[in-house]
Amino acid sequence: MDFKLSEREELLRKSTREFAESEITPKIEAMEETGEFPVDLLKPMAKLGITGIIAPPEYGGVGLGYLARTIVLEELGRVCAAIPMSMQVHHMAIAALKDFGTEEQKKKYIPPLAHGETMGCVAVTEPSGGSDVLGMQATAALKGDKWILNGRKCFITNSHTSAYWLVIVRTGEGPKGLSAFIVEKDAPGAKTGRVEHKFGLRGSNTGELVFDNCEIPKENILGQEGGGLGVALKTVSESGRTGMAATALGILQACYEEAGKFASERVLYGKPIAALQAISFYMAEIYTELDICRLLCYRASWMKDQNMRFDTESAMAKSYTCDAAARCAKKAVEIHGAYGIMKEYKVQRLLRDAMVTISAGGTGEIGKVVLGRAALAPFQKKG
Ligand SMILES: Cc1cc2nc3c(=O)[nH]c(=O)nc-3n(C[C@H](O)[C@H](O)[C@H](O)COP(=O)(O)OP(=O)(O)OC[C@H]3O[C@@H](n4cnc5c(N)ncnc54)[C@H](O)[C@@H]3O)c2cc1C
Repeated sequence: MDFKLSEREELLRKSTREFAESEITPKIEAMEETGEFPVDLLKPMAKLGITGIIAPPEYGGVGLGYLARTIVLEELGRVCAAIPMSMQVHHMAIAALKDFGTEEQKKKYIPPLAHGETMGCVAVTEPSGGSDVLGMQATAALKGDKWILNGRKCFITNSHTSAYWLVIVRTGEGPKGLSAFIVEKDAPGAKTGRVEHKFGLRGSNTGELVFDNCEIPKENILGQEGGGLGVALKTVSESGRTGMAATALGILQACYEEAGKFASERVLYGKPIAALQAISFYMAEIYTELDICRLLCYRASWMKDQNMRFDTESAMAKSYTCDAAARCAKKAVEIHGAYGIMKEYKVQRLLRDAMVTISAGGTGEIGKVVLGRAALAPFQKKG
């Protein structure tokens, strides 16, 4: 077993950290105020290989794996989690195209995404309930050489900043009645709806996509007709859960640093509060959670890079890390006393951001449904 990162991965961490501190930090206040994603960061992120990190070189990407992606998302999340939130969904769109696209689709859509010319989004959730994927009601019907889409998707990350939307809708009955499509934002009848105003991850754009007799070419189906559930499950499990977990890992790292610095500087009773056993116990818990989560996140990404099956490990990394980030952010706020809830202090943003990671990409309860099934599988009677 080898827990050492390669020189390349360490360099990637260093360059992403420097970029995040110098280029993202000055934009945080505006993101918090406006709730808008800073699209001008796309080109510099493309230059560093962040936008196209998992895209194959033959389609304009840098062709690195999921462990490298996790390190990059973690470093971005340490500074501002809204950025990796949007980036990880952008990567999901690239992954779905890579896994299910035809050669023509890959050639047409992956390079502009990898080069940061635009963003991608993946739209599954509807007002009828995100956990109940089969309850979705948006439809597509083939009419001549066009698919006609009708319906509405909600809570979609990058909805208003993406030119390419990967959308799962109904083309028939039951689990085999879902299909995936590539919709270009300017397609006739494709519209963006409301923008959501979230209390956390403010700089990550979340909103609605509306399809009103939206016409797309017949060849814009992604994968097989009826294969939409498979596209959604693979993309959410492999790229979505690892991406959300890495974002939350960055929040956890920031909690550790902010709490440690404050505890060492704040003096009570003539000594830094770090000398109080209760505070050092809080720090010990944050430190341990950070280590557990880093191991879970890196293991899941490493398994993807080894072509191993890892749906249980990605669900574990996602649900544990997002919950741990919220628990540790609460502790970090408490260590700060009243300062912790003041806008000037980063910890209040960390708590808000951590809370938002819990339901995005599949709720904690759905994560536990997956894990409960895996935990009990060895004890189930066959036949
Ligand atoms: C910031 C953010 C970004 C998002 N980005 C995207 C995106 O890019 N694309 C996209 O398609 N969706 C996106 N979503 C939607 C997200 O996937 C859904 O919010 C999530 O799937 C839950 O759906 P819901 O909010 O409708 O809650 P519901 O499904 O209505 O769930 C309500 C409650 O019931 C619980 N519950 C549901 N089923 C079960 C069960 N079987 N057992 C136990 N408890 C259960 C849930 O855990 C939850 O507590 C995003 C959400 C957020 C917050």
